[in-house]
Amino acid sequence: MVNKASNAGHIPSRTCVICKNKDAKPNLLRFVIKNDIIVFDYKQKMQGRGYYCCVTSNCINKLEKWLKKRKRK
Ligand SMILES: [Zn+2]
Repeated sequence: MVNKASNAGHIPSRTCVICKNKDAKPNLLRFVIKNDIIVFDYKQKMQGRGYYCCVTSNCINKLEKWLKKRKRK
């Protein structure tokens, strides 16, 4: 018997850096920061610290501001 609830546990979840919503990893867009530039990691194979963002224009549009905030530290 297949239990849907137990299957869901196998999908890793990640948190969007903008709205802090948690979603299944495949539903989020992974990116890394190289030389202070956001590089979307479409193949999910880039080295380095990965960040995740919702695939919505609302969150993607705010990424630039988020990046500038990081640099001010
Ligand atoms: Zn988001």
